[in-house]
Amino acid sequence: MAKTNIVVIGAGFAGVAATKKLAKHFKKNNDVLITLIDRHSYQTYMTELHEVAAGRVEPDAIQYDLQRLFNRNKNVDIVTDEVKHVNHESKEVTTVNTVFHYDYLIVAMGGEPNTFNVPGVDENGFTLWSWEDANTLRRHIKDTVEAAAIEHDVEKRKAMLTMVVSGAGFTGVEMIGDLMEWKDRLAKDNKLDPNEFSFYLVEAAPIILGVVTEKESSKAERYLNKNGVKIIKGNGVAKVEEDSIELSDGTIIPTHTLIWTAGVKANTDTEDYGIEKGRAGRLVANQYMEAQGAKDVYLAGDIVYYEEPDKDNRPTPQIVQNAEQTGHTAAANIIAAYEGKEKVPHKSNYQGFMISIGSRYGVAYLMDKIHLSGFIAMAVKHLINLFYFLSIGSVYYFVQYIHHEFFHIRDGRNIFRKHLSRYGNVLWALPLRLYYGSMWLIEGLKKLFGLFGTTSWFGNEVTLPFSWLQDPTSGATEAVEEVAKPVFGLNYVYGEEPMMVFKEMPGWFESIMKFMLPNQDVALFFQKFMTLVEVAIGLAIIFGLFTWLANAATVALVVSFSLSGMFYWVNMWFVPVAIALMNGSGRAVGLDYYVMPWLQKKLGKWWYGDIKSIYEPGIEK
Ligand SMILES: Cc1cc2nc3c(=O)[nH]c(=O)nc-3n(C[C@H](O)[C@H](O)[C@H](O)COP(=O)(O)OP(=O)(O)OC[C@H]3O[C@@H](n4cnc5c(N)ncnc54)[C@H](O)[C@@H]3O)c2cc1C
Repeated sequence: MAKTNIVVIGAGFAGVAATKKLAKHFKKNNDVLITLIDRHSYQTYMTELHEVAAGRVEPDAIQYDLQRLFNRNKNVDIVTDEVKHVNHESKEVTTVNTVFHYDYLIVAMGGEPNTFNVPGVDENGFTLWSWEDANTLRRHIKDTVEAAAIEHDVEKRKAMLTMVVSGAGFTGVEMIGDLMEWKDRLAKDNKLDPNEFSFYLVEAAPIILGVVTEKESSKAERYLNKNGVKIIKGNGVAKVEEDSIELSDGTIIPTHTLIWTAGVKANTDTEDYGIEKGRAGRLVANQYMEAQGAKDVYLAGDIVYYEEPDKDNRPTPQIVQNAEQTGHTAAANIIAAYEGKEKVPHKSNYQGFMISIGSRYGVAYLMDKIHLSGFIAMAVKHLINLFYFLSIGSVYYFVQYIHHEFFHIRDGRNIFRKHLSRYGNVLWALPLRLYYGSMWLIEGLKKLFGLFGTTSWFGNEVTLPFSWLQDPTSGATEAVEEVAKPVFGLNYVYGEEPMMVFKEMPGWFESIMKFMLPNQDVALFFQKFMTLVEVAIGLAIIFGLFTWLANAATVALVVSFSLSGMFYWVNMWFVPVAIALMNGSGRAVGLDYYVMPWLQKKLGKWWYGDIKSIYEPGIEK
């Protein structure tokens, strides 16, 4: 039987959400193939474009490779190609390199900047709607500032250090926010005075951030003003030259950098698909996200024009939540069509807006009632971003996001400033690693050989002090020596009896231990095994092999020794030391330097397959 082909064009928020839902549903159905086509081999995390453009994060931080996102979805064929045409009569998608037949199609090709034919924007301005846009802008700003640093003409130099963002919606505000924060780094790198820079936010409407309430709008305005951004309202950009812009009221602002974020329209690639168009060229969908005028074609994301009856017939907003929700509706209705079930009408549920203004301040208006600002608004934004990776099942990018937003960030450009990130030198951890590893090795060797007058754990005597394992004939429990009263402390003080973390095992832990070590034979095996574990941990830490795991294991041992009534507070330093050593210390004169990159490469290839810049048709997972 021929397979049913579901083709999804566009691997943005909408396309990825729809493909994930379809892949999960048809997981066990070998008759359905889902082909996801995008011109890139990765999903662009659009909501962070400004962070790349303004040097906050590295360009690859916002490229989420599709192979990594869909590696476990064996029914998804990823194709890197540019779609040229859709023929809904013959049910064909024509790309630069091939033609795909479809039974069901989802068009999720997003939008593009709308310059409203303002003269000069296309030729002299910069847009922010793709990874390439963000990278071009980043390079332009760096090059222009570098050139300004050696420019003697004061006026020209001033123009080169002036940056203007046109459009004060969330994209524009986020862009100018990150730019103003980049100033100090740009100035420092080029030996410039930060006061020489100028930033403008130009908005034709009388307010900025019209998507939120007046409260957020004015807070955002105050914060921007405080940080030196000049806000011009009720006055749009009328003309853009190479070295200046002209506003509607005739004001001229000399600048070499005009960033246009003043409007979005539908992706013009879809112009001739024969689907009815709504405002700004967006494609009209019905309540099932079916395209008007094209059978078996569904729409999702920014490209959709759908007036929501329960939202005063306002068209669906061009935001991530809408992209994901329309993507889910489109996928659900393809499933319904395939299975001959009843289709479900689209029902949106928007949680609100969160806008970052630089990396440390934000404003948010959530669920039509909650107003947030500052640190808390930014923290919520990060949590929502992290939740996105969980929603598409990507632990890899969840971890990567934490790395690029918090740990590997320069100049303290995150809500925790420099508290979480520092370009440090792991060599300083070497003495501590050798000391801590030796400590475990010595303890292990004592137990192995009974060194320094201790009892070997490798004999035929149970050394674990658990009551149910004691030999009743040995008399071990009989005479209890009179001991000094234990004193709490985190270091050993001469003459003081150190205090146990737990004097006796908690009941629940005792039940587990009784289950694990029911008799002396098992206990003997266990104590020998634990001895070898301690020796292995000691050696691993000393030689810097699997250092993270070895140190994590010591934390687990401390917890278990404590609960067993065998651990003193004075040794609690093990835990912070182990945590400190988990910070890549094994790579400083250690085997992890060689082993970890090799292992990461091998495991990455095994789990994710080959990561490529172009994925050809034909599933290779
Ligand atoms: C700087 C910026 C900040 C933003 N901040 C926020 C925010 O904070 N919150 C929020 O909710 N929204 C924000 N948005 C809007 C949000 O990014 C969009 O609403 C969302 O990306 C729309 O998702 P989508 O899947 O419809 O389209 P996109 O994410 O644009 O994806 C479309 C995909 O289609 C592919 N494609 C297009 N044409 C073709 C073709 N011819 N052939 C092959 N592939 C093609 C593209 O490569 C792309 O991968 C922001 C947008 C920008 C630009």
